Amino acid sequence: MDDDGLVYEGKAKSVFRTNVAGELRVVFRDDITAFNGVKKDTLAGKGEYNARVSAFFFEYLEKNGIPTHFIRMEDERTMIVRELTMIPLEVIARNVAAGSIVKKFPFTEGQRIEPPVIVTDYKSDEHGDPSINDDLIVALGFLSADGLQEVREMTLKINTLLKDFFAKAGIDLVDFKIEFGRSGDTICLGDEISMDSMRLWDQKTGESLDKDVYRQGKGDVLSAYRKVVDIILQTN
Ligand code: 5GP
Repeated sequence: MDDDGLVYEGKAKSVFRTNVAGELRVVFRDDITAFNGVKKDTLAGKGEYNARVSAFFFEYLEKNGIPTHFIRMEDERTMIVRELTMIPLEVIARNVAAGSIVKKFPFTEGQRIEPPVIVTDYKSDEHGDPSINDDLIVALGFLSADGLQEVREMTLKINTLLKDFFAKAGIDLVDFKIEFGRSGDTICLGDEISMDSMRLWDQKTGESLDKDVYRQGKGDVLSAYRKVVDIILQTN
């Protein structure tokens, strides 16, 4: 830990210790990166947009029975969260084929995946975030067989809740990535749920409202992110 209490600095968020044991402060920065940090920029306001959307979804999921690390917002870009022991997995749910799954398997872009699939990557910059299967997850001690089942059920429930929410706003939830951690014996949703970690397609225009706008250089990133914020504001 640094003198200023920094415990972790990711590509778009910084995590600090607070003076309350078991609580952390997560600051959503304006940095945006793609291709494992090869493309990098700073977009004023982006941190605030992602923080708002994340906070909204954490509260929405909590209300629907999903335990999350969210406690409260401290300011527009700063979230107070419960400290979790993170499980080093990126859990990805997919409703429509896009991104890496189209490169790796014979899906066509835009193809519906019904029932949805869950895939998992080992979160490790050192190892390049490789795909990992259930046997490896258990063998490495990341989760027990029961824990794995719980994560799978929670992910499918989160998928249904988010998909239904976006469908009402005329948006397809294509896919998203989430991360879990432990608070005592409870497996909780951690990290974030934002336009950096979901793919969202406007049902009418096909327009992306997520980080693909940045990855693929296909328009104004902030105005795409803003559209998602506006949907959240209309529901509040
Ligand atoms: P893909 O595997 O197609 O690159 O990504 C699938 C989904 O997970 C996309 O919504 C993407 O934004 C999200 N995702 C995958 N890896 C990461 C990551 O390292 N960080 C974030 N924030 N999202 C990710």
